[in-house]
Amino acid sequence: MTWNLIGHEWATQLLQGHIENNTLRHAYLITGPSDIGKKNLAIRFIQAICCPNSKGPGIPCLECSTCTRLQRLEHPDLYPITVEKGSKQIKIDQVREMVRTLSLTPYEASRRFGLLIDFELANRSAQNSLLKTLEEPPGSVILILTAVSASSLFETVASRCEEVKLNPVPIQTTRIGLENLYQIPGDQADFLAHISGGKPELALAYHQDPEILERRNTLLDQHYEILYGDSVARFAYANQLVKNPVMVQEMLDTWSSIWHDILMQTGKSDTPIRNIDREGEIKSIIRSVDLQEAKSAVNLFRRAHSLLQNNSNLKLTVEDLFLQLPTIPR
Ligand SMILES: [Zn+2]
Repeated sequence: MTWNLIGHEWATQLLQGHIENNTLRHAYLITGPSDIGKKNLAIRFIQAICCPNSKGPGIPCLECSTCTRLQRLEHPDLYPITVEKGSKQIKIDQVREMVRTLSLTPYEASRRFGLLIDFELANRSAQNSLLKTLEEPPGSVILILTAVSASSLFETVASRCEEVKLNPVPIQTTRIGLENLYQIPGDQADFLAHISGGKPELALAYHQDPEILERRNTLLDQHYEILYGDSVARFAYANQLVKNPVMVQEMLDTWSSIWHDILMQTGKSDTPIRNIDREGEIKSIIRSVDLQEAKSAVNLFRRAHSLLQNNSNLKLTVEDLFLQLPTIPR
C-alpha cells in the first residue's frame, strides 16, 4: 500500500512506473464504478508527481504542504472540475475556464493538472470543448479524467487518454486496508468490507457517517416489506421514495446488492454473501424465488439504473421496477 490506498495496487505500480521512467502521458482516464476510489487514485498520482519531500520516485510523503493542499483540491496548479451543486451536467463554460487556466505557466509545481471528475456527466459541447486540449496539450499539462467507463464518454475523448480501469476490490484487501489505514477494528472492518461490495469509498462512507449506514438498513427493511406488499403498497412507497432522488439511487444500489446475493445463493455460487447481516432474510426470500426469477430481478435493477442515467422519468421507472419485483407470500 505504497500510496496508502485500499486496493488498486497494480494501478499504483503502473502510474509510479510512468513517474519513475519519465513516461508520463498527457491524459489519463481512470474508469470504474462509483465509490471505488477513482478520484483518490488521481489525487495520489498528482501528489506523487509533485511532492517535494518524496520518499523515492513516485512515493509522496502525504504530509507536506503540497501533498495536503492537493488532497484538499486547493493547490494552485490543480484545477478540478465536477458537476456543480444543483446541476446534473458538467458544462462547457467549466471546461473552457479550466482549459484557459491550464494554458498559464505553473505557479509552484513543474506542471499543471486538470482533474475532471465524473466526466461521463459532461454534456456534448463540454466534451467537445476538451478535444483540442487532448489533441495538442500544452507541454506542462496533465489531464486526468474519471468516468464509470470509457464507453460512457465520446470515443474521440476516451481514445486520446490512457485508460486505467479499476475493478472492485476483494473483501480481504478492503478489510486489511480499513484496519491498517483507518484503524477500524477487525470485526467492523470485516462487516464494512462485505457490505460495501468491493467499493472502499463506500465502506469508508458507512464508517464515517452512521446516517448512511442507517439509511441502508432502513432501505433493506423496506425492501423486505415491499416483497410482501401488494401493488397498492408498492405504489405508495414509490410515491414517497421519489420525493428524494438521492434515496432512489441508494435504494437501487442496496436492493440490487441483495438481489445479487439472492442470485448467487440460488445459483449455488461460491461468491460470499455481501449483505452478511441479512443472511436470514436472504434465505427466507430464496424459499419463494427460483434462479430465473432472481436473474430477472437483477436485470430489472440494471435496467432501472440505466434508464435513470438516461434521464427517464423517475416516478415511472421506480413504479415499474416495484411492480415487477416478485411477491413473497407471508
Ligand atoms: Zn509531500
